[in-house]
Amino acid sequence: MSRVVITDLALLVTVDDADTILTDRTVTVDDGVITAVEPASSPHDADHGSAERIDGRGKLLMPGLVNLHTHLPMTLLRGLAEDVDLQGFLARVWKAEGAVMDPDTVELGATLGALESLLGGCTTQLDMYFHHEATHRGAVAAGSRHVIGPVFFEGPGPDGLEWSARLAGLRAWPAALDEIGGPAVPVSVMPHATYTCPPEGFAEVVAVLREVIAESGRPGLLTTHVSENEAENAGIRERYDATPTELLHRSGWVERDLPLVLGHGVHLGEGDRALLAEGTVAVGHCPGSNLKLASGALNWTSLRDSGIRLGIGTDGCSSSNDLDMWQAMRQAALLARLTSGRPDVASAHEVLRAATIEGARALGLGAEIGSVEVGKRADLVLLDLRAPHLTPVHDVAALLVFAAGRGDVTDVLVDGEVVVRDRRSTRVDTPALLARAAERGALARAAAEEVS
Ligand SMILES: [Zn+2]
Repeated sequence: MSRVVITDLALLVTVDDADTILTDRTVTVDDGVITAVEPASSPHDADHGSAERIDGRGKLLMPGLVNLHTHLPMTLLRGLAEDVDLQGFLARVWKAEGAVMDPDTVELGATLGALESLLGGCTTQLDMYFHHEATHRGAVAAGSRHVIGPVFFEGPGPDGLEWSARLAGLRAWPAALDEIGGPAVPVSVMPHATYTCPPEGFAEVVAVLREVIAESGRPGLLTTHVSENEAENAGIRERYDATPTELLHRSGWVERDLPLVLGHGVHLGEGDRALLAEGTVAVGHCPGSNLKLASGALNWTSLRDSGIRLGIGTDGCSSSNDLDMWQAMRQAALLARLTSGRPDVASAHEVLRAATIEGARALGLGAEIGSVEVGKRADLVLLDLRAPHLTPVHDVAALLVFAAGRGDVTDVLVDGEVVVRDRRSTRVDTPALLARAAERGALARAAAEEVS
């Protein structure tokens, strides 16, 4: 049996249903599960014996952040497609990807992205990248709870696979997940977008996913990019006389029994929102990417009031340029206030919930992670409060959303394992990884320069 005890915490931000915040606590984790949250002076504290201990004095404990839309291996392509819109970005990046992103390189990029995420307190990522097995292997090696599945494109994508091979990859995915191991995640499927896959493809993919769920007994998840900018909507209107959401709805993608996460969802109209309310739907809101690519501003209030769950994402490193969930939380709150003209929209509590428990629920993992409660899996983050920008503490949620950052994260647990200790990965040889990333990155840059 493995036990981790986090002693004498100054603050415990539970993100439970009442947003309870506790002081002076000790938290015990046994075999990956939170088994006790006690006053720091509890007598039980003495008999933890051989447990791994983390000194929580001066620190804040909270649930790990959930990144609801990203592309981890694009860490290797950071800065290679600047000052272009979504369509310009895709044209530039896809060619570079096709030239250099073989499975080994993808795995390396995923480890790099997962390491960046974990060091910054993000414990779960909903990822989308081709060579999904290599991506998963790379992220799990760093210690992430990593959600991914086969990506679909009409015609060979950067990986050169035909549609039938992608379907075969979906059927084989539960067995591959078992073989790779790592924290429990749903079987996911991720056609890239309605502008890269036909409606009948979407219908076929969800039908096969339902078979895979029935055979494997695992929970499932659907995700794709939807209405990221106006040009995307216009292109789909011209081609199909519909919106991306209408195409998904017709293809059997908006259903109560199968969670759906829409990447971006910036330009969802009133009709789209009404259709999406029929299903179990969340939007992975990526404000940093939307601002940088000038894609537009998501309407926080109208989505939330339509019954659509809101989570926070970073998007990939070629479009938002980092995987910093603290920045994304702050951008989400500020953007919602700027566009609504109201300082009470997207409160710090609401944004913090979006980046933790709401993201977990969007993935169907709300009973397992997303809050610090006895019985849940221990995906936990510690921040050192002994810093000028975090002292004194008055409003904890506002402190976390508007003042704290990834540099404040000291220790991270995923599924009960300490994967970051004293700001260092316990799993990754970081200098060796960075040397390999620099080497592969140089090849990606050469390929991108050839394209442009
Ligand atoms: Zn994306």
